Amino acid sequence: MSLYQKYRPKDFESLVWQEFVKISLQNAMLQWKIVWAYLFYGSRGTGKTSVARILAKWLNCLDLTDTWNPCHECVNCKAFQNDENLDIIEIDAASNTWVDNIRELIERAQFQPNQSKYKVYIIDEVHMLSKWAFNALLKILEEPPVHVKFILATTEIHKIPDTIISRTQRYDFKKITEQDIVDRLAFIAKSENISAETEALKLIWRISKWWLRDAISLFEQYSIWWNLKLEYLRANLQLVWDDFLKEFINSIQTKNRSEILEKLLFLREKWIDVKIFLEEIVFFLRDRLMESFWENIFHEYIRMFEVFEWIYGKLKYVPNTFTILEIWVLKLISGESTVSATVQSKSEIQNVQKPREEIKIEKKAEEKIKIEPETETEAEIPEIKEEKIVEKIVKNNTGKKFDIKELIESVKKDSWKWFIAMTLISSRFEIKDDTCNIYTSNDFNFQKLNTPEVKWYLSQKMETLFSVWYSMVIGLDKKGWNNILNDVWDIF
Ligand SMILES: [Zn+2]
Repeated sequence: MSLYQKYRPKDFESLVWQEFVKISLQNAMLQWKIVWAYLFYGSRGTGKTSVARILAKWLNCLDLTDTWNPCHECVNCKAFQNDENLDIIEIDAASNTWVDNIRELIERAQFQPNQSKYKVYIIDEVHMLSKWAFNALLKILEEPPVHVKFILATTEIHKIPDTIISRTQRYDFKKITEQDIVDRLAFIAKSENISAETEALKLIWRISKWWLRDAISLFEQYSIWWNLKLEYLRANLQLVWDDFLKEFINSIQTKNRSEILEKLLFLREKWIDVKIFLEEIVFFLRDRLMESFWENIFHEYIRMFEVFEWIYGKLKYVPNTFTILEIWVLKLISGESTVSATVQSKSEIQNVQKPREEIKIEKKAEEKIKIEPETETEAEIPEIKEEKIVEKIVKNNTGKKFDIKELIESVKKDSWKWFIAMTLISSRFEIKDDTCNIYTSNDFNFQKLNTPEVKWYLSQKMETLFSVWYSMVIGLDKKGWNNILNDVWDIF
């Protein structure tokens, strides 16, 4: 049995995070306040499915323990553990194999359970259901048979019809923190008698990107002879170390061409994983940014940060990840990193810039308002500079205006929110009724904005500025990234 399976939480007692979800669920259960349908919302890897499975087991357990947990011993618990409980039906709505029969499956919920108290449907990625399947689900939720429970899990709650949401009890799952993962790994290490260096655990957290399952697999794979060492991880995961990153950044700063060429060659020869390398660099730069906030060097770090982050977003579209890294590092050194290469100078671009005017947006059939960039100058990599923030005025359906420039300016002024401002500059906005859609240009920016805290912050900010409350929906729009340096792009 893999360590992940061994240490997967099996009851509420062994569930060590999502404290709030756990407590509210347990409270409801203690009072036997059981609803027809639960909705678990949270990003990937937050433990929604694990909790759904515990809940399903709990609902059907014949002999709950003193601590109000499933017993793991009764026929129902055992059947579930052996994947033999026909009444707990797990469906992954994202998987195509279910598309045809999912509706039928839901309709069959009307029939009595085979062996247990309840028929429990766990539908993962429920937002992927087809319209027909949602209709079938809604029909059951409107008049639920006493023997049926639904546990719906989703990463994208805005795609679920309101009619469904209003018939469920919603639980929001928080992102698992670095500390949670490091603590969990340390716990496993202790239980398995493995001596693990804390720095090695932190590195695993970074590489696994908050995915506990990946973190535990890496941990298992690299714990050699009951030891987990940072050195060993670095050597085998083809990573570089902090000193190298420091020198790498330093040679870009000092524009030391021979040194940077040497380092690039080293990366290529060692066949470093460029994706992980960029992640390491971005983390490294983040720390430098924090340290140098009041210093001149800050802006230089920002520029590098922007470039590395941008390359990161492009990696999956290029045949050779080394080449894009090399070209951009050389461009950084030669100071051309934000200049379009065919080689219109900035002043030439500004000369052809159309006079600024309020963008008039016509209502489209689907009542969406699209904001297109005014001129091609926007396609450059954004910098925190006044002139780069092109005026964009958006009207919502009521004709009320708001100015994105004003929003970005205001965000910039809040301490530690500059990274949000940076991301907004390169994003596309779309207003529909009370919803503000922000389409980011790459995964990295998407991750930055798509957190409950940032969305709440932006809604509040917009309300203060424009007296309208918008729900924020963050999307990913690769096309929206305009034609950044298409000419360079043509090389690939
Ligand atoms: Zn039981």
